[in-house]
Amino acid sequence: MKRANAIALAFGLALVAVGVWWRTAPAAVPPLAPPLAAAPHVIFRGDGDAAEIAAARGALERVFATPTGARAFERIASGALAGPLTIELNRRGANFTEYRVPGRELGETIFFDPSSHPLVETAQGPAPAYAETVLAHELGHAVFKLTSEQEVIDAVENPVREQLGLPLRSRF
Ligand SMILES: [Zn+2]
Repeated sequence: MKRANAIALAFGLALVAVGVWWRTAPAAVPPLAPPLAAAPHVIFRGDGDAAEIAAARGALERVFATPTGARAFERIASGALAGPLTIELNRRGANFTEYRVPGRELGETIFFDPSSHPLVETAQGPAPAYAETVLAHELGHAVFKLTSEQEVIDAVENPVREQLGLPLRSRF
């Protein structure tokens, strides 16, 4: 084979490779947290039926699919926390993160009532909170270990609200 032909062949193969890559490349950047990968790192328990657990899991996965939520998921998956993230479902309107050491050290258990929809002050007036925003808020406590409500709102809840196209929370 002549040198020129060899170069042309190599160039042709490179184009084919680029073509294959181009066709298989995803249209958008995939979320850092594929839904199934979340399973071993998040435990659901407490007072919830299969539909409520599925709804809570879906809401949490939509949070993990945002850039801010992906940082939370990375932190959970990295093993940096003392335990797995645990979502303790309840039907008594309890939405909070339990302290491991009262007033000092936050744990990884989030109490969550999926039916509660607490009213929060937003840029568009009082609005019932979606499961996603309640969970995003609690990730600020349970995963990022923020104890200040304002810090949780500024660093985690509002960025997730913005990334999900929801009105920003104006205060705690
Ligand atoms: Zn809080």
